Amino acid sequence: MSTSGAEPESAPDQRPQPPAEQPEPEADIDVLVVGGGPTGLAAALAAARRGRSVRLLEASGGLGGMAAGLTVAGQRVDLGSHRLHPSAPPRVRALIEELLGPDLQSRERNGRLRLGERWVAFPLRPVDLVTSVPPGFALAAARDVATGPLRRPRTDSYAEVVRAGLGPTALRHFHGPMAAKLWGRDPDTLSGELARKRVPVRTGRDVAAKVVAGARSHNRRFLYPRLGYGQITDALAAGAEQSGAELEVGSRVEHLRPGSDRVEVEWGTRGRRRRIRAGRVLWTAAPESLIGVLPPQIVPPRPPPVEHRGLVLVYLAVAGRPYTNYDAHYVPNGDVVFSRLSEPANYRDGPDPDSLTVLCAEIPCTRGDGLWRADIDILRRLVLDGLARLELPPPSVHTVEIRRLPKVYPVLTVDQAGDRRRWLNAVAAVDGVTVVGRQGRLVADNLHHVLDMGLSAVDCLGDDGTWDHRAWARAEARFESFTVED
Ligand SMILES: Cc1cc2nc3c(=O)[nH]c(=O)nc-3n(C[C@H](O)[C@H](O)[C@H](O)COP(=O)(O)OP(=O)(O)OC[C@H]3O[C@@H](n4cnc5c(N)ncnc54)[C@H](O)[C@@H]3O)c2cc1C
Repeated sequence: MSTSGAEPESAPDQRPQPPAEQPEPEADIDVLVVGGGPTGLAAALAAARRGRSVRLLEASGGLGGMAAGLTVAGQRVDLGSHRLHPSAPPRVRALIEELLGPDLQSRERNGRLRLGERWVAFPLRPVDLVTSVPPGFALAAARDVATGPLRRPRTDSYAEVVRAGLGPTALRHFHGPMAAKLWGRDPDTLSGELARKRVPVRTGRDVAAKVVAGARSHNRRFLYPRLGYGQITDALAAGAEQSGAELEVGSRVEHLRPGSDRVEVEWGTRGRRRRIRAGRVLWTAAPESLIGVLPPQIVPPRPPPVEHRGLVLVYLAVAGRPYTNYDAHYVPNGDVVFSRLSEPANYRDGPDPDSLTVLCAEIPCTRGDGLWRADIDILRRLVLDGLARLELPPPSVHTVEIRRLPKVYPVLTVDQAGDRRRWLNAVAAVDGVTVVGRQGRLVADNLHHVLDMGLSAVDCLGDDGTWDHRAWARAEARFESFTVED
């Protein structure tokens, strides 16, 4: 199975013209899933296991979405640093454990982050506050904890939510520069919602509790498959197929016509046009692409313009293993082009060669900008320059590969969050279609969250093909409480 690696383009205002001749309809099905990332695969698997007839259409050439795996220089790697968090809801964890068996390993986190000119263990441990944080930082952070109850956010911006909660020191040294790097915006202009979803601690007391908890090794653990993170989506896809779901790659929906009891869907696969009627469509691709295929009379209002930040992933296969003993390096510094550097072989005890290791540098950028378009030699030079600035060893590189992900971080500015939410509600009102998964939401959710969403969507499908709107509203309210974990 190959990786999709990038979400296909879709322009809402370029609706395809109705076809002159419609293809013969195929036999009706219960569920049509659009998008073969983790959300779509989990939904297809769960629905097929309940005896529903399921078809999944994935536009790119491979399954797995942003959680897919790929092979670089003979080593399995991920699309950026991925780990499964032990906070996964019990049924999500049970499903992955069932699918992967002993291949799902529990590991201790061993990351570090750059604070000024120093490396500090990440997640932070109490001992680091004394031994490795820059002089003055621990004192200022302790003062922020003490004065926390006196601070209130002055506006609903990312910067203010972090300043009021964690304090000005954490904002200045880590969260502010990291947000500016990931979203390409001053954190004063970004919506506070992004901070609430990503910064899991709200007050100085929370920080202190988290640092103390971080001293215990069981709180520092994560789960990871022996053969790379893509093993999860590979197993979901295999499980879905074994249960009878039909998974098609290279298949793009062209028209979607909601009817009184069924949704008629037309799509193209390798130049062939197909048609089917489904009891329910679970749309896990971006909602903007859904409105591009609906009939003009039911198209919800135009989406408010929301930019997405993407990532260019630069993989360097370097001689010798390990390059460092760390799994990931987090780099907020503005003079280094990447925000994170990971070494996938350090996430697992797997069948990886000793002679080389692969590093993955995540470079935040916007589709079409200079970094997005930079060629492989420039990207390689930029990453090597970053390693030198961070005083990491100069690697002996023998292979470089690049992947580009266009839609990773939705850029929500202070004044946009309300409009976007209203628009998503209008999209949600389309009969017979449910938008589910990361692409339809305002935040960059974790894998365990989107698997929960896929499974929850299937829970709302009645035996008679009905959709339980109330149960879905309750599930969506629960999704709102999710906090993204790094
Ligand atoms: C760099 C990075 C690091 C991450 N780290 C972690 C981590 O450590 N832990 C964690 O839990 N999560 C992590 N995540 C998040 C995780 O990868 C996502 O939550 C998950 O992949 C989202 O799944 P999805 O199915 O909702 O969306 P996607 O993965 O985006 O899948 C959507 C699918 O729909 C397809 N598609 C798009 N348009 C169409 C169309 N018109 N028709 C048909 N198909 C279409 C796309 O090709 C894609 O395959 C990370 C993500 C990134 C990018």
